[in-house]
Amino acid sequence: MTIRVAIAGPRGKMGAEAVHTIMKNGKMELVAVLDYKEVGVTLADLDMFPSNYTAPIFTDMKELVAATDPDVLVDLTNPHAVYKHTKEALALNVRPVIGTTGFTDAQLEELTALAREKDLGCIIAPNFAIGAILMMKFAKEAAKYLPDVEIIEMHHDQKLDAPSGTGVKTAQMIQEVRAQKIQGHLEEKETIEGARGADFDGMRIHSVRLPGLVAHQQVLFGGDGQLLTIRHDSLNRASFMSGVAFCVEEVMKMDQLVYGLENII
Ligand code: NAP
Repeated sequence: MTIRVAIAGPRGKMGAEAVHTIMKNGKMELVAVLDYKEVGVTLADLDMFPSNYTAPIFTDMKELVAATDPDVLVDLTNPHAVYKHTKEALALNVRPVIGTTGFTDAQLEELTALAREKDLGCIIAPNFAIGAILMMKFAKEAAKYLPDVEIIEMHHDQKLDAPSGTGVKTAQMIQEVRAQKIQGHLEEKETIEGARGADFDGMRIHSVRLPGLVAHQQVLFGGDGQLLTIRHDSLNRASFMSGVAFCVEEVMKMDQLVYGLENII
């Protein structure tokens, strides 16, 4: 069975890459895209896509679903739009595969309940890169033995949310196994606010934003006389695309919300 896919955010860096990925995948069909402004009738109207890309462009999710009946919605938009898109898709019985980051805990809880109520698969993946998933898993393992840890996440300067979804997810996974402790000197004082980064349960997360970066993260562990660094680099957006295709297939077999690819790989 061909999986009918819609993509929200097709003009974005990730969205455009996902459009090519689905178009090239023999098991999937790109049936529509969702934008928020009138940019054309089909993808072929946009200079960035070839003339055989004929998926229609919609600005309203209800109309998109009524006209093209997608099985899956892939969202690669921004933190302001993604919650509404995910909720609308579930309400319309379309399985969301969400790459956009920036959900609050309350939003995740609500979406988890909605997916359960609807018996629908939903994957929210702060990072689609397999290497990044392994970095998080290895960091969780290391934290059992080396509880002093700082996370440095580095992204391009157009990223809207900080810390990154991957940075927070890594900290959450470490928190599950790490003996609780406040790191650094007890009387430590910041002479410039923010110098020690964000505090997550006593661990620090530092967010670097620079042009030239794509998506990178180091997890640094310190022990007596030793340091361990676990690092992952996404060098271009192609690094995320095998994860997108994997999730589109997996979400069809699921009946609940899963947050994080590490839970299905
Ligand atoms: P981007 O280049 O800024 O693309 C976002 C696109 O979404 C833009 O074309 C934007 O249009 C469009 N958009 C904004 N609001 C929309 C709406 N309501 N409906 C439809 N389209 C809308 O950003 P990006 O680098 O592709 O990243 C997109 C998201 O993916 C970000 O949240 C990023 O953090 C996340 N990301 C996830 C992964 C992962 O592995 N999960 C990897 C990389 C990035 P305008 O430009 O006209 O506003």
